[in-house]
Amino acid sequence: MFKALLLTKSDDGATIATLTTVSEDDLPEGDVTVAVSHSTLNYKDGLALTGKAPVVRSWPMVPGIDFAGTVIESTHKDFPPGSQVILNGWGLGETRWGGYAEKARVKGDWLVPLPAAFTAEQAMAIGTAGYTAMLCVLRLEDLGVAPGSGPVLVTGASGGVGSVAVALLARLGYEVVALTGRPEEADYLKGLGASEIMNREEYLGDAKPLAKERWAGVVDTVGAKVLANALSACRYGAVVAACGLAGGMALPTTVAPFILRNVTLAGVDSVYAPQALRRRAWDRLARDLDPAALKSMTQVIGLGDVIEAANRILEGKVRGRLVVQIGG
Ligand code: NDP
Repeated sequence: MFKALLLTKSDDGATIATLTTVSEDDLPEGDVTVAVSHSTLNYKDGLALTGKAPVVRSWPMVPGIDFAGTVIESTHKDFPPGSQVILNGWGLGETRWGGYAEKARVKGDWLVPLPAAFTAEQAMAIGTAGYTAMLCVLRLEDLGVAPGSGPVLVTGASGGVGSVAVALLARLGYEVVALTGRPEEADYLKGLGASEIMNREEYLGDAKPLAKERWAGVVDTVGAKVLANALSACRYGAVVAACGLAGGMALPTTVAPFILRNVTLAGVDSVYAPQALRRRAWDRLARDLDPAALKSMTQVIGLGDVIEAANRILEGKVRGRLVVQIGG
C-alpha cells in the first residue's frame, strides 16, 4: 500500500479529492514503476482537483500531470531500476494515474532522464509550467525572434509559465515586458529580469484591429482579450507563442495582425510534444535557466496542502511555482 491523492466523482458529478492509501495492484499497466519523490501544482492540476474543467476523463484518478522520481521496477531498456526520471503530460492526471502518489506506473517511452544539472526537486520546480515556458521560447527562436528583434511580452507573468518565461528570456538577452494583474509583484518580476511591468488592465478592453507596433514576440499564458490586444500591438513579422487560457478560451481578434503585419500565432502544446523536442527543451533549461531565479520563484508544499493550493492557483493567487513533496 502507498499514499496517494485520489479523485472520485459524487452522484451529483462533483469532484471529491481524498488523501488515502492505494494498493500497488491498482496501478495501471506499464513497463516502468517509479518511486515518485516530487510532483508539482500546475494550473491544469487546479482544474482537475476542483472539477472546474473536465480535465479528468477516467475515474477514480490520481491527479498530478508531472513527476520526478527513481525507477524501482522496469523492463524498458533505457530506464533500468535506479534511473532518475521525469515525466510531463502524456495524459497523466487526465486519462492515466499521475504524480500525486508515492508510486506511478507508466510507459517507459514517455520518460525523460533527469538532466544532470538538476535535482528532482529542481526539475519539478520547473515542472510542466517551466518546460512549457521553454517550449514557447524555442518556438520564438525557431521562428526567427532574436534578442535584438525588440521587446518580448510575457502575459500572466507572475504565474508558473510566466515566471520561468521571464527568467529564461531575460537570461538569453531579450528585453522582457511582464504583463501582470498583480502590480505588487513588480519587484519579484524585475528580480527575474523583466525590464518593464505592464498592468493587465491595459489589455482587458476590446482589441483594436491594429494598435501601435510594440512586440517582436509574445509568450501568452492568458488567451482571451489579453491575447487579442497583444496580437494587435505586434510589430511587423512578430511571433506569438500561445500556450494558455488563464483568462479564458475565447480569442476576440481580427485577421488584421496576420494579413497586414505578417504576424505568426504559434500554438504550443506540452502534453503530446514529441520526445526529441522534450529532450531539447530540458537540455536548454539546464543551460539557460538561472538556478537562483528558479529558487526565488519556488515554494515546496506537501501532498496534504494540494487541495487548498488548487483553489488558489485558479484564483491567480499563486506566485511562481509550487513543488509537491511526495516521497523521500
Ligand atoms: P498559473 O496560475 O501559475 O499562472 C497563470 C497566471 O495568469 C496567473 O498567475 C496570473 O498572472 C494570470 N491570470 C490568472 N487569472 C487571470 C485572468 N482571469 N485574466 C488574466 N490573467 C490571469 O498557471 P500556469 O503557469 O501553470 O499555467 C498558465 C496557463 O498555461 C494555464 O492556462 C495553463 O493551462 C496553460 N498551460 C498550458 C500548457 C500547454 O501544454 N499548452 C502547459 C502548461 C500550462 P498575473 O497575476 O501575473 O497576471
